[in-house]
Amino acid sequence: MKFNYCPTCTAPLAINEENYLGCTNRECTFVHYQNPTPVVGAIVEHDDDTIVLVQNVGWPPTWYALVTGFLEKHEHPDEAVLREVKEETGLDGEIVSFRGHYTFERMNQIIMIYHVKASGPINIDKTEIADYKIVPIAKAKSWPQATGIALQEWLEERRGF
Ligand SMILES: [Zn+2]
Repeated sequence: MKFNYCPTCTAPLAINEENYLGCTNRECTFVHYQNPTPVVGAIVEHDDDTIVLVQNVGWPPTWYALVTGFLEKHEHPDEAVLREVKEETGLDGEIVSFRGHYTFERMNQIIMIYHVKASGPINIDKTEIADYKIVPIAKAKSWPQATGIALQEWLEERRGF
C-alpha cells in the first residue's frame, strides 16, 4: 500500500534519511516502515505419496501452489497453518516439521513453511480456493519463487538427491 499523507497528522510523507517514507512534520514521529507481513504455508502430504496443491480464486488456471494464509490476531503459526489447511482443503492435518522461513519480496511477506500430513476427503472452500490437484511426489514440480523454493527443497530431500 502506498500512502501520500501521514495517517497520524495528515502532513505529506517523504523519503527520510534512513530511506523510509516518513512524516515531514517535525513534531510528528510517524514512519511507514512497511514491515513484512507474516504468512504461514503448508506442504500438505496426502495419502499415497502425494501432495495437495491449491489454486486461489482469481489465479490463472495453470497456477497451483501451497496452502497459505495470514495469521489471525494473537494466533501461533503452528495453529494458523493447521487452521488454513482445514479451511482451504477440509483436511485435518498434523505438523510433521517446520521447514523454515522464506521471503516473498514482491508481496513483502515472510512465509513460515511447514510440512503437514493429512488424510481423508478433500473439501475445498470455494470462496478462497478455485481448484486443487493431488500430485504424486515423484512427479511434483516446483516454481522459482517464494513457496516454490520451499517445495523444491522438500522434494529434493524426499526424493533423496
Ligand atoms: Zn505526521
